[in-house]
Parts: sequence; C-alpha cells; structure tokens
Amino acid sequence: MSEPLRLQGISASAGYAEGPLFDLDRIAIAYACKENADDEKAALETAIAIATGRLAALIKVADGDAADILEFQIAMLGDDALSGPAFAAIASGHPADAAWRQALDAEIAGYETSDQDYFRARAADIRDIRDQVLRALAEDGEVQAPAGAILYGEDIAPTRFLETDWSGGGGIALKAGSTASHVAMLARSRGVPMVVGLRVVGPGNSPANLAGIALLDAEHGGIVLSPSKAEIDAFRRSSSSFAARRDRAGIFLTRPAVTRTGVAVRVQVNIADPSDVDGIDIATCDGVGLMRTEFLFGKTLPDEETQYRAYRKVLEWAGEKPVTIRTVDAGGDKPVPGFTVAEGNPFLGLRGIRLSLARPEVFRVQIRALLRAAIHGSLKVMFPMIAIVEEYRQAAAMFAEEQVALAARGVPQKMPPLGIMVEVPSVAIVPEAFAEAAFFSIGSNDLTQYVMAAARDNTAVAHLNSVRHPAVLRLVAAVTAFGMREAIPVSLCGDAGGDPAAIPSLLEAGLRDLSVAPAQLAMAKAAIADVSV
Ligand code: PEP
Ligand code: MG
Repeated sequence: MSEPLRLQGISASAGYAEGPLFDLDRIAIAYACKENADDEKAALETAIAIATGRLAALIKVADGDAADILEFQIAMLGDDALSGPAFAAIASGHPADAAWRQALDAEIAGYETSDQDYFRARAADIRDIRDQVLRALAEDGEVQAPAGAILYGEDIAPTRFLETDWSGGGGIALKAGSTASHVAMLARSRGVPMVVGLRVVGPGNSPANLAGIALLDAEHGGIVLSPSKAEIDAFRRSSSSFAARRDRAGIFLTRPAVTRTGVAVRVQVNIADPSDVDGIDIATCDGVGLMRTEFLFGKTLPDEETQYRAYRKVLEWAGEKPVTIRTVDAGGDKPVPGFTVAEGNPFLGLRGIRLSLARPEVFRVQIRALLRAAIHGSLKVMFPMIAIVEEYRQAAAMFAEEQVALAARGVPQKMPPLGIMVEVPSVAIVPEAFAEAAFFSIGSNDLTQYVMAAARDNTAVAHLNSVRHPAVLRLVAAVTAFGMREAIPVSLCGDAGGDPAAIPSLLEAGLRDLSVAPAQLAMAKAAIADVSV
C-alpha cells in the first residue's frame, strides 16, 4: 500500500468528490498516414468538419455559457488563420495529424505565455479544438472516464467537461488551470467540484501512479491520493457536513436574509451577461448589486443599441428592485480587443475608469445607453477602479453632458444615482474625499490584492490574498462606518460576499448589504443566519 500524497491548490468550485483518478493527459491517438498530400489535406478537412459537427450537436443541448463557448470554438475551427499553417505543412509533405498538432501547439503556446489570466484561460479552449480534430483524424475514439471519476491533469477542455456525465459525481483536479477559465465557470454553475493550481505538499513528488481512490476536497482546495483509513473517514465527515449545509441552504433561498439575532441583511446578485438573469427568480434576491459590463465588450465594441437592450432586459427583469450596473472595467485580467492596451503590469495600469476616461468616444456610448435604459427600472451606475475624486467628477460631468444632449434630441432618459467601487486602497483609506458619490460598493477582490500586494490570479501567493486579513477587514469596517455616519449606502460585491467563511467577518465589520454570485445565494443566506451580530 503506497503512502498518502497530498496536493494543495485553489478551489475553483466548492464541493467534495471521492473516486478513481482519471488521467486527462493520457490521450493516445493512432493516426494512419495517407498515400499523398492531397489525401492528407482531405483527411484534415474531413476531420475539421467532423469536429465542427460534434460541437454543433453539443450546442443543441447546451445552455447560456456553454453554448457561447462552443460557438467560440466553432468560429475558431472555421478560421483560416488557425488552420492555414497546418495545410501549408501538409503541402510540404507532413502528415495531417503532425501538421495540425504543430500548428495548434504554436497557437496554444502564444496563449499560455500571455501575462494576462484571461488569455491563459483561453489556451484550454484551443487545446480542446486541437484534440477534437486529432480525435476525428484517428480511427479510435478517446477513452471515456468511468462514472464518478476525478479528472486529473494539466488542464481540461470545455468539451471534455460538457461530454462528461456528472450525474454520478466526480470532480476536476488540475495542476494548471485558472479559477477564471470557462470550465471553472461551468463547474460552478453546475456544482461540479473543481480545484486548480495543484502542488505537492511536503515531501513527495508528482504522482507517478494514479491508480486507486483519491479524495478531492474542493471546499478547501486539496486532494489526497492513496489516502489512509483515517483520512477517508475525516473526508467523509467533511463531505457529508458540506452536503448537509448545502441542503439546509436550499431552505433559505426563498427567505429574506437575517442573522441569528434578527438583523436584516440585503443580498443581491452579481451578473455579467444579461442572460444570467434567466435562471434567477427575482423573489430570491434584493436586486443586482453588480452587473459587470466588460463581458458585453467582445470582439467588437458594442454599439449603443446593443448595450441599451442588454441593460433594459435586466432592469425589466428586476422590476422595482435596484440594478447596479458598473461602467466597463476593461483591463487588468479582463482585456478587451481594440480597447485595452498591452501593459507590463495591467493590474496597475490603464484599467477601469482610467481607460474609460482615456477613451471618451467609447465611454460616451455606454453612458448614453445607461441614461436611456434608466427609465425602465431602478438603475444605479457605478465606476470601477476610482482612485481619486477627480475621476468621479469627470465621469459624472460626462453623464450630465450626455443627458443634456439626449434631452435636446427629445430622447427619453433619466439620470441614475452615480456611485463608486471602493477597491483601490486610496479610497478605502480616505473615504471622506469621495463623500459626493451617491453610494459605495466595496470590490473586495481588487481591494484585497492591492492591500496585500498579492495578485488575485496567482496561485503562488494565494495564501496572502485573503479578505480576512486584519488589514483588509479594518479598511472594510472603516468605509462601512464612514458610510453610516454620512448616510452613504455601502455594499460589498467582491467574491468574499458569497463565501460562507468570510461572511461572519464582513458582517462583524458592519456590512449589511452583500452582492454574491447567483449560485452562492442560498449558501450565503444560510451563512448569514448563523452569524450573531
Ligand atoms: C472586485 O474587485 O471585488 C469586483 C467586484 O470587481 P471585479 O472582480 O470585476 O474586478
Ligand atoms: Mg474589481
């Protein structure tokens, strides 16, 4: 019996799984070379068509985010810029499988070495496309993981995730990966436990033998291979306590959130794509505390009409409840082609309001769409990455100018309350300089990374990136107390708001308004009910 081996990483989707490990990196594909270059070319064309057909079939049963990912992959497969180098290699005598692999590996390397998390996360999508076509080129299909297996490897392809039957349990354990990847997003929305950035803890090497049972604790971000009897028993206790908490949480979903001592807490939701609201019953939340709009900014910048329709849809869904839409926070880990600039240190660069003010022709389109949408509900607008009050004043002045211009043209519009994100330490330390803002929303993801000097997407410094560090909590408490004194509403919309482990500290810091990912709504309300403040 081998010694237990422990690996520690970051949780990308909370939950527990116990089962055999399945090695994702073992893709054995046999390709039979053809007679000549023409046949090789035809084989690759057929394989691309087969892969495209398989993706199209998956789209029919996919929803929201999953369908978007598959559409992106089909578009990539149809892009000559991607396949061109492979066909050129075939013409110069290479077999189709080697030509395709080489061309795609070069593309993947470009994504993997990007210093931006967003692009690194997209490498998995391109790897997936590579393997889909290789699979279609080969005669044998890929070995399927047994039911309930823990899929273990460098990274996992979105199609692999979508093709896996998760009804019998199972999970994902990755050596690389990112909590911002498409698969992480899918895993969270479907409740599949997932851990990324795994490293061996203590003595021992990367596991050579993956046989046997593994215990995946994706609540705390760890996995144990060849566990001892005591470890299995402890794991099962934690796993059933998690399941019990989740079941119990379901009861809280439809109730207003109150602490054990009867203090009411508002719980709103964070959304990105307008279609996110389709799966949420408005009765279960107090509105939208954060609508991130950078995700509307895809390959091309969205025009006024597209934005207006997106904002209006969410406002109409929310009815009388407030919807806080954040102006575009491009940059940092959210690059937008044609808008953001390449920078050595994008988290400290031209992102958020800084970029919007530097590109007023883009910003004014969003401002007009927001002013027009405001008549359809209870809109609030906030600016990301505010560091000095002049940024707020300039942005507010642009809102006033655009309102006058719209009114002059007879276009129906309304000025929403304008607030700021509190996510740069300069604001959290001196909130009184920003008292003219209509409201504050604490962005704990960025506030934590800037206070602790620990990037939010770097697994190597994840132990430092904690909202519960006293330095961060002291700032949260100070901003909240300032808001109380000055009657400026203060909420929190970072991921910590939905984290049951952080909720007690946030409520103790004085917060009474949290905005959380929709999948965390029930657990957040249940965690609130356990707090005595
Ligand atoms: C935050 O920084 O906490 C936040 C909510 O904004 P984002 O995660 O989009 O940067
Ligand atoms: Mg932020």
